[in-house]
Amino acid sequence: MAKVLEVLNLSKSFGGVQAVNDVVFDLTEGQLLAMIGPNGAGKSTCFNLINGQLRPDRGTIRILGKETTGMRPRHVWALGVGRTFQVTSTFPSMTVLENVQMVLLSTHRRLRNVLRKTAGMYREEAMNLLELVGVESQWNRPCGILAYGDLKRVELAIALANRPKLLLMDEPTAGMGTKERLKLMELTAQIVRDQSIGVLFTEHDMDVVFAHADRIIVLNYGKLIAEGAPREVRENEKVREIYFGTCAVPTRGTAGSKRR
Ligand code: ADP
Ligand code: MG
Repeated sequence: MAKVLEVLNLSKSFGGVQAVNDVVFDLTEGQLLAMIGPNGAGKSTCFNLINGQLRPDRGTIRILGKETTGMRPRHVWALGVGRTFQVTSTFPSMTVLENVQMVLLSTHRRLRNVLRKTAGMYREEAMNLLELVGVESQWNRPCGILAYGDLKRVELAIALANRPKLLLMDEPTAGMGTKERLKLMELTAQIVRDQSIGVLFTEHDMDVVFAHADRIIVLNYGKLIAEGAPREVRENEKVREIYFGTCAVPTRGTAGSKRR
């Protein structure tokens, strides 16, 4: 199985805070890797180092076998990396100017004119993506009035439109109810396995993590303290210590749903 992501001795500090400290892991195609850890453990910093938004102090990042350490976000994206955000507010593949122009076209009520001219372009492909994530019946509605869970599905379709080999999902189900979370992750798992995409995701809901991750890595104070299959990680002493008293690590068979 090909490696879609390799992270070697990755470190990043902010002033005196060692946000990411000598972290090593990799991810193969078709695999769902969950990164968990308490708030402030360094998860988002890791994501931003991988997607190019931050430069590491030390370490190497390889995506699809190509070194990307220090590369800009749009170049990382062009390699075939999809991202979903907690809140999507800009189109990552468009320039700063194009993003603002897009809004101005909309403000001056010209966006429809422009889009009308391009209405037939990639339409079938776009509809196929909407169908894949289960929102094809809503294709004609403005995003602003969609239910939150459906909006998350649209975001997934947008990420998949880049035909990624690596998908980075920082809290993809944030703000959703437990049932919806499980459903969305189930759908994601199915799609990424079908398309052999490697996924790195963070998630607070341990039910979702233990139900869908193939492997789990655990960060604490920027350090990787555990790694393995869900069962191994669940039984790891250090992990239990971190989550002790929170019931966040469910025992086998009784997936406790209390969250931090
Ligand atoms: P997580 O996503 O696991 O909650 P973060 O990666 O956001 O953790 O943060 C890790 C640590 O780095 C925290 O102590 C946080 O306060 C600090 N940190 C993150 N981003 C910055 C920043 N841009 N400037 C200063 N400190 C930061
Ligand atoms: Mg975070």
